[in-house]
Amino acid sequence: MANDADVKRNPKAVKQESEEAEGDGESRSLKSRGNLFEIATSQFERALDAVGIDKEVRSILAQPKNELIINFPVRLDDGKYHMFKGYRVQHNNLLGPFKGGMRYHQEANLDEMKALAAWMTYKTALHDIPFGGAKGGVKADPHAYSRGELERITRRFTHALGNNIGPEWDIPAPDVGTNEQTMVWMMDTYMNIVGQSEKNSVRRIVTGKSVTSAGSYGRREATGMGLVHCISEWAHERNFPLDGVQFIVQGFGNVGSYAAKLLTKMGAVLVGTGDYRGYISNPEGINPHKLQEHVARSGSVADYRGAKAISREEFFSLEGDIFIPAALELEIGEPEAKALRCKVVAEGANGPTYPAAEKILLDRGIDVIPDVLANSGGVVVSYYEWLQNKRSERWDQSDVHQRLDRRMRRTFANVRQYAAARRLDWRTACYGLALERLEQSYMERGIFP
Ligand code: GLU
Repeated sequence: MANDADVKRNPKAVKQESEEAEGDGESRSLKSRGNLFEIATSQFERALDAVGIDKEVRSILAQPKNELIINFPVRLDDGKYHMFKGYRVQHNNLLGPFKGGMRYHQEANLDEMKALAAWMTYKTALHDIPFGGAKGGVKADPHAYSRGELERITRRFTHALGNNIGPEWDIPAPDVGTNEQTMVWMMDTYMNIVGQSEKNSVRRIVTGKSVTSAGSYGRREATGMGLVHCISEWAHERNFPLDGVQFIVQGFGNVGSYAAKLLTKMGAVLVGTGDYRGYISNPEGINPHKLQEHVARSGSVADYRGAKAISREEFFSLEGDIFIPAALELEIGEPEAKALRCKVVAEGANGPTYPAAEKILLDRGIDVIPDVLANSGGVVVSYYEWLQNKRSERWDQSDVHQRLDRRMRRTFANVRQYAAARRLDWRTACYGLALERLEQSYMERGIFP
């Protein structure tokens, strides 16, 4: 494996942000943060208790259907072979093909994939999208490899997955550490595995591709945009004008940067942000466009001249009404929940909040828009991309934006109503709605044989 001395950075890969931001300022080890699958299970059980789901359906959904680990060799630039570990966890496909991202991260592990795959099942069911849930990836730090090495890792991984993925079976997408380029390599490899005559019909094997290589207009900004639709619905309900409001974003990758640009366009002011190399703040406001240019050049928000460097502790106690965690999971623990001075936490990342921390936030009167709703814009537009590929269509950007807007607001309204009618917090309400849909389908179809 490439070590620090021979790290070959690929300027193109740095410029194109991955689907989510990567890590926090202090690069805390994921393992030290606790078992993500246990945390996901505790959220699931809380919802089951609140909603009352059939016992058999509970036990089916408590575990993923399939857990795949693949060890595969790739030749690195120095001519030597290195073994990589790849994962694909398929949680559920009752409502449609397995669907979810591929993550490249040095601490990727099976329990993390299991949690993330389950969250995809609830995300798609919540929106009533005909997909199930999956997640996968490679245990590797994408920054440590050249463009050529990343291409070979991706192509070999896709080849090794073989028929375990498929355009009507399991459809990957970008996630932490992967991007449009990764998806295009996956698509191209898969197209070359199937026979000549099928080639063009399998472009929908992955979503989140570049627009030029059969992706959808509007997919790149979809997660950030969906997040902003949720925030604006929340603000509308609370009678809280967004013009002039201060907000903070942890992580400035695809999700954080688009959310920041869109909120700024609505008159809100970005006062703090940070990533795996450091945190910055400016009470007068940070221009997200200029910051993004800086990130494209340097790979991080650190050292941006339009703001001052602050510590992680200072970051979590910044004043600002909206807090958007858009980095990795499990960033908001009990100390952070006690320190935050916001009115709402809108979860751009998957699983950023520990259950005990969420309780503190709710007790303090801080609203939480949960990940399965807040960051679901990405998979919504993935569904539109998949549909366009299937029908050989190309939808305008405005058409995609309108559809996303409508679906996000409709689902948000459903969650709000469901939560109010049953006096539930929004995360439990999201799970409740999703679980009821899954339960109903299991009840109608029964279990084969
Ligand atoms: N990785 C994204 C997520 O966690 C997108 C998944 C997709 O588009 O399938 O929601």
